[in-house]
Amino acid sequence: MMTVLTNLLDLDPAQLVAYCGDLGEKPFRAKQLQRWIHQFGARSFDEMTDLAKSLREKLATRAMIAAPAVMSDHTSTDGTRKWLVDVGQGNAVETVFIPEENRGTLCISTQAGCAVNCRFCSTGKQGFNRNLSVGEIIGQLWMAEFELRKTKGIAPGPKGERQITNVVMMGMGEPLLNFEPTVTALRLMLDDNAYGLSRRRVTLSTSGVVPMIDKLSQECPVALAVSLHASNDALRDSLIPLNKKHPLKELMAACKRYLEFAPRDFVTFEYCMLDGVNDTDAHARELIELVRDVPCKFNLIPFNPFPESGLKRSANPRIKAFAQILLDAGLVTTTRKTRGDDIDAACGQLAGEVQDRTRVQERMQKMAEYQKKFGENFGKIVEITQ
Ligand code: SAH
Ligand code: SF4
Repeated sequence: MMTVLTNLLDLDPAQLVAYCGDLGEKPFRAKQLQRWIHQFGARSFDEMTDLAKSLREKLATRAMIAAPAVMSDHTSTDGTRKWLVDVGQGNAVETVFIPEENRGTLCISTQAGCAVNCRFCSTGKQGFNRNLSVGEIIGQLWMAEFELRKTKGIAPGPKGERQITNVVMMGMGEPLLNFEPTVTALRLMLDDNAYGLSRRRVTLSTSGVVPMIDKLSQECPVALAVSLHASNDALRDSLIPLNKKHPLKELMAACKRYLEFAPRDFVTFEYCMLDGVNDTDAHARELIELVRDVPCKFNLIPFNPFPESGLKRSANPRIKAFAQILLDAGLVTTTRKTRGDDIDAACGQLAGEVQDRTRVQERMQKMAEYQKKFGENFGKIVEITQ
């Protein structure tokens, strides 16, 4: 009989304790196991020298540690490193490491494709393919941390110099539409026996799935970034279809509610600068009004164009003038540098390499099958009752 091996990367701390319990092991074994996996990057049970040989043998027949396979690995001239990670059935997602002077940020993906279909995003243009599992989400951090250490010759282990100090969920996909696996992965990022990152150093970016923003505030409030991109509903409706379901008034109220639980006392609003679309002085002034009573910071993102979007990046002087209006109103505003342009790792260009428009048809068909199987709301934006 074939036994299905349990991928231990799929289990959060509590689940690993339960798993060890099923094997007749004490909870502290789960902690040891977790440290081996997430702090030492162990791939096999043989390496886990402080576990009894009988337990290692038992684990080897029932479990595995399997991160998604790396398909390609590129480093940009500015040090940005991008991995293309295989998530099966011809799908790949991207993980990007952005080194800065005092920190290293990893940008991870939560879905293959995305159902939100924002006008300016190439991921959205691919359509939704599927949700990533916990192992595929945390596996990106696991793979990246230990690959980076290997490149630099830094030993694994909790005392080794940590390469990834910050995580942003800003890669492919809408994390709040893959809620449970995303939250489980977040718990592992924060756990002291795994990555031990503080909640302030982990940021989730969302296009504004209001009910799930509330749910996140209850289950795992990390730093929140909201992709705003527009100063009024008509404009936002045209850029982010989800806005029709959760308009700006609701979104602003959700941000305020979130801040009661958040590790930071502000929300970061991301604003993609689109030439002639959302970048006039009038838009800036409208924004100031919109966020009047939401403690926030602005991060302006120069649009990364891709051919089918029909959109253009605002010119630099326009971005500067726009930022100045926000700054003059007392809003902390930064402009994101585009990094990794030469390896297609800039925002919204993720998946450039795997994008194959002939597959959209196939994905749509798959989506229809899933909807038949799991109900017509599968992959759609639906209200989640709590
Ligand atoms: N789905 C989530 C997180 C992934 S997108 C969200 O939308 O927030 C991460 C960020 O990249 C978002 O702020 C998104 O609006 C931005 N983005 C998407 N496409 C872009 C593009 N072509 N140029 C610049 N930023 C883009
Ligand atoms: Fe999805 Fe975010 Fe892209 Fe919109 S910007 S399509 S929500 S990944």
